[in-house]
Amino acid sequence: MKRIYVSEKWCLGCHLCEYYCAFANSGSDDMAKALMNRRINPRIQVEERSGISFAVSCRHCEEPLCVKSCITGALSSEGGLITIDKNRCVACHTCVLACPYGTIMPSDDGMMQKCELCLKNAIGEPACVKYCPNRAIIYEDSAAPAAAAQ
Ligand code: SF4
Ligand code: SF4
Repeated sequence: MKRIYVSEKWCLGCHLCEYYCAFANSGSDDMAKALMNRRINPRIQVEERSGISFAVSCRHCEEPLCVKSCITGALSSEGGLITIDKNRCVACHTCVLACPYGTIMPSDDGMMQKCELCLKNAIGEPACVKYCPNRAIIYEDSAAPAAAAQ
């Protein structure tokens, strides 16, 4: 399965991936209308420490603790893609505690959200990867990609 890999070597810390993620999942086709005067709530977060930055989002684990922990079955694995059915989420935050990477967070409506690789929105491919200006995020089918570290 194709996965997202990130590299702190190439990350500029520009946070554009966060904006494109928020836009891709907004349901709008106008970035300005979708994001202007709003606090964005993306499914990818750029971590910055000691002058180093890197983007963090769901790793679509082979043995996903979030899926195992979900009390309602809202989280599931579809061919390796870990998805969330917001209609089944009861916002108990169990998955937030279970995820070792901190990549599940509340959405604007209080239900949980996570990266679904943009496979369920209109973009159809990870927007963070597509629009990263320095190719610090790549999307490929490899256990050990040459160009970036996970
Ligand atoms: S868009 Fe790319 S370079 Fe900018 S913060 Fe995100 S990962 Fe880093
Ligand atoms: S949300 Fe966390 S535990 Fe679940 S698949 Fe993604 S990284 Fe793994």
